[in-house]
Parts: sequence; C-alpha cells; structure tokens
Amino acid sequence: MRIPRSILFAAILMIATSLHAQTANFSVGTATAAPGQKATGYLEVPAGVDPGTNIPVVVIRGSRPGPVLALVSGAHGTEYASIIALEKVIQTVKPEDIAGTLIVVPLVNLASFEKKVPHVNPVDGKSMNRFYPGKLDGTQTDRASYVITKEVVEKCDYLIDLHGGDLDEDLRPYSYWSKTGNAQLDAASRGMVLAFGLDHIILTTDRPTDPNASRYLDNTSTTRGKPSIAVEAGHAGTTEPQDVQALADGCLNVMRYLKMLRGTATPIEHPVWIGKVDSVTSDREGIFYPLVARGTYVQQGMKIGYVTDYFGNTIWEAHAPASGVVLYICSVPSMKKDDNVANIGEIATQ
Ligand SMILES: [Zn+2]
Repeated sequence: MRIPRSILFAAILMIATSLHAQTANFSVGTATAAPGQKATGYLEVPAGVDPGTNIPVVVIRGSRPGPVLALVSGAHGTEYASIIALEKVIQTVKPEDIAGTLIVVPLVNLASFEKKVPHVNPVDGKSMNRFYPGKLDGTQTDRASYVITKEVVEKCDYLIDLHGGDLDEDLRPYSYWSKTGNAQLDAASRGMVLAFGLDHIILTTDRPTDPNASRYLDNTSTTRGKPSIAVEAGHAGTTEPQDVQALADGCLNVMRYLKMLRGTATPIEHPVWIGKVDSVTSDREGIFYPLVARGTYVQQGMKIGYVTDYFGNTIWEAHAPASGVVLYICSVPSMKKDDNVANIGEIATQ
C-alpha cells in the first residue's frame, strides 16, 4: 500500500515536533509544572516522633526537552550566601529560556534559618547533610532526607548541593569533586565542577559507595548514577555580592554545560586541586584569636591562631598540621574543646 505523501509528511512533522517539546507535567512535592511553566510548592515532611515541616520547592519547566537539574541549598540554614544565590536563580531563570527542567530547593533547614542556629537542625540536633538517604521512622532530619531522596534525587538527572561558611566559619570559596571510578559519571561531574567555575576544588575518593548509606546529599545522587557536585561560598553570616554571584553564576554555567541554557560555559582553567583536607580542632575551651585569614597559604607548623582563658592567658596554640590553603578558619571568639578551628587544604597535582 502506498501512503499518500501528505500523510507521510504530517507524520514526520509530528515526530519532529515531539522531539522538540516536553509534553507531560512534572511534579516535585506539591509543585506541578506543565511545559513552559514555573510552579512553587512544598516537600511535605510528615510529623513523626517530632513535628513535620514543609520545605519550599520550585519547578521551572522549559518547553523544550532536556535534562532535569536539581539545585539544593540551606541544609545548613545559616549559610546565607548559598540560600540567597538560589533565590536569585529562582527569580532569574524563566521557563521560556531553558531546555529541560530545573528543580530548586533553596532552604532545606527552615528551623536553622528561622532560629539562627548553625550546623544542625535545632528540632533534633542533627546536621541535615549527614543522614541521607533518610528514613520515615526517624527524627525530622531523617524524614526530610528521605523525602528529598524520593522527590528530588530520584527525579533529577544531575544535582548541585550548595553550602558555604557557617556563622562561625570564615571560608574561601571552593567546590568538591568526587571521583567514583565510574568513567562516564566522573566525566560528567568533572565537567560540571569545572563549568561551575570556583577556582579551588577538593578531590574526594573515599565517599561511601552503598546507596543505602550515602550520608551526604551529593553522594546520594552520585550513588544513584546521577552526576553531582557540592559547592561552597560565603562566610560568617554574610551575603557579600561576590559570593552570591559566584554561586548563582556557577549554577547558570552548569546549565549551559548541560545545554539547558543557551550560550557556552567557560570552564575554569587550571584550578587549584586540593587532595587532602586537615581539620584542626581545639584542645581547650576559651577565647579564640585567629592569626591568618581565609584563603591564606600556610606552611606546616605555622601558628594560625591561639586560645586564651577568660583571664587573658594563652592556654593553647593552633598550628598548621600541613602546608596548604586555609579553606576556613573560625570567625568567632567562642571556642569549646574539640570545636573546629580551621580546615587546611593540601594542594594536589592533577
Ligand atoms: Zn553546609
């Protein structure tokens, strides 16, 4: 049987059109966006042994097909620059400009943000980036982690987790690239971290490989076959424009790298690769005085700060355990025994 040319032509056109449009709605939590729409809603974390919470989420769905990228910040709700950066991305990115779908979760740890409590979720005292993939029968952090794993990680193709220096951390910007041994995954995440553009990159090779014990959000994504990176900028409660801009621009550059936005992503050339991070913790409680700034290059043994008692007597000195760059140093005088004083990044060759 001969198919009339006009029908054949129409069929080809239909196939071609379907390749250039997304059709179905896309839902994350209560946010449902049709192609070409931006929708807002919540990741509903049910009450359990402690109260539930509603985590805000935005879905920006382009009308052209493309990958699903998830951007998450505010696991630590007082790392403000990262939260403000994603607020900026939400306001900047329009559905008509993108191919694929952007999921934005700007503030995971609402209680930390509202109560100005660093490092942990004040509801249960847990860090909200250590209990992935989470579980429904745990405390609020466990349940929130479970909902984020199901609604965000499992629905995305790529993920970026944004952090920064917390209220007590004077941090210089850097990102993390995890090498898993899976060549395809590693090539994609390496492309993302170079496109993001921060000039210091910590290389990790020791993240858990069991998806059921992934602990960190980026690793939860990676162990499920979705390339991911973590990035940090901002420090000590500030929202300085260059930190916010570096994070927002980094997200847009990764979108260009993934062909979700038009334009070319210019990757960072010759970044400083950090092969090992040494944490310095205090031996004593008292008043901390830093002697170096974030980003300073220090020699092994160099005195980087000291602790006095409340009478002004020096009772402990902090020395650099290795030569490298001060990734962050404590930004406040409050010091307890075993608190983090500084992280020193040892330079690797790549
Ligand atoms: Zn953080």
